[in-house]
Amino acid sequence: MTVADTPASAWLARAAALRPRTELFIDGRFVPAASGRTFAAVTGRDGSVIGQVAEGGPEDVDRAVVAARSAFEDRRWADQRPVARKRVLLRLAEHVRTNRDELALLETLDVGKPIHDTRGVDAPSCANTIQWYAETIDKVYGEIGPTGPDALSLVTREPIGVVAALVPWNYPLIISAWKIGAALASGNSVVLKPASQASLAVLRLAELAVEAGLPEGVLNVVTGPGPVVGNALARHPDVGKVAFTGSTEVGKSLLRAIGETDVKPISLELGGKSPQLVLADVGDLEAAASAIGWGIFYNAGQTCHAGTRLVVHRSVREELVERVAALAAELAPGDPLDPATRLGAIVDERQLGRILGCVRDGVAAGARVVTGGERVREETGGFYVPPTILDRVDPGMSVARDEIFGPVLSVIEFEDEADGLRIANDTAYGLAAGIWTRDVKRAHRLARAIRAGTVWVNTFDTADITVPFGGYGQSGFGRDKSLHALDGYTQLKTTWLDLSDD
Ligand code: NAD
Repeated sequence: MTVADTPASAWLARAAALRPRTELFIDGRFVPAASGRTFAAVTGRDGSVIGQVAEGGPEDVDRAVVAARSAFEDRRWADQRPVARKRVLLRLAEHVRTNRDELALLETLDVGKPIHDTRGVDAPSCANTIQWYAETIDKVYGEIGPTGPDALSLVTREPIGVVAALVPWNYPLIISAWKIGAALASGNSVVLKPASQASLAVLRLAELAVEAGLPEGVLNVVTGPGPVVGNALARHPDVGKVAFTGSTEVGKSLLRAIGETDVKPISLELGGKSPQLVLADVGDLEAAASAIGWGIFYNAGQTCHAGTRLVVHRSVREELVERVAALAAELAPGDPLDPATRLGAIVDERQLGRILGCVRDGVAAGARVVTGGERVREETGGFYVPPTILDRVDPGMSVARDEIFGPVLSVIEFEDEADGLRIANDTAYGLAAGIWTRDVKRAHRLARAIRAGTVWVNTFDTADITVPFGGYGQSGFGRDKSLHALDGYTQLKTTWLDLSDD
């Protein structure tokens, strides 16, 4: 049965029947915060409170790290046979599939994302990622160094210990799976900290892991405010690695926190301001317009690598903008629980205000609103912004430089290729970029010249788990996904054996 076969009323009834887990998940059990405090989970769908979530504090972080640490020290997970660990994670992937509707609903309610996407993209992608990393467990080998006949040198990968995984609210299931998939496959224990706006699906995922056979204490979840819980995790002496996805500002604060307290590795997947560089020889304008539109409007623009800057050659600007605007007109925001909805809500009121404020700043600086730019569906109590296009944007304007994290496309025109490339690279970020040209040599030349972790040519936002993802510059360092991610969750050990005759 597809998502479209279930009408909005049925999803609503299922949503009403949900009993989300809202306590901390420590040592295989749900427990209240030591302080007894909770915070309200508010849905962007209609602004209502959908649950009271445990507000973790430093004491709870300590409890979770102690549980994770002792699970690591007694090797209840790391020393299981690879095939046994693989079986557990494969079972977890199956549990995610079996509980797909519930996970999708939890994420839709929490973050306001369309059920069409959470059920069709987020939950399946979470399962596939965990399955993919499960399969690596008995397939990734160590090395033997090419040393001489008198020695044998072994290069082995060892888990780091306790990984603190801090994840944002925009893709809670997918990004959690990137982190816990690679961390658990490598034999680590994990304390996972979801964003306050998106705790519910992550808590259920952890419960499913234990139901799948993951030993207690190996995966823990501490919910609560980032500056308290995230910060305490980063500073905790028994955390061996911090895997962070979120804003550049918080990423920098974590670097400072670690520098003040400890020496430990951190990976930072941060913000972006990705360009779509469209050359005069773009070719199929309709296909480009569709990919460029979806590249910014999908998930209401709340995507780190969203193509937020349309850097377009003067000769095709007008027609391309018209075509993207035509797509925008078809994407009016709707109820996230309606399976027909493709554009849902903004995660919370603060983010709504931020997006509208950025648009106002752009207009005040001289940008022209082609479409959108105002709040809609206010009568629902929810937080909705329609697809918005700002034309005549100057590369120096804040809407061309700062991350907006909403469905707002800034259009910047250029005349010659070198200028287009300069504008595309004129950003502190470097997460992703799109290049649109029919000329294969030009495509390769530009792809090499663009400073970004991912460059798409004549497509956008297409990928799978086999390729790495991460940023240049202020978009961070370290990579999620693919076998390369395992480097971030393991340390290499050299064991040198003397074979010489005495
Ligand atoms: P955020 O930085 O506010 O929060 C991310 C995580 O860190 C959350 O769990 C949050 O609770 C925690 N946190 C917040 N303040 C903290 C602090 N002072 N110390 C420690 N932890 C803290 O980000 P967000 O608003 O949840 O997500 C949006 C941001 O994430 C955007 O900038 C977006 O570009 C970025 N993002 C990046 C990627 C990527 O892969 N590069 C993916 C998704 C989102």
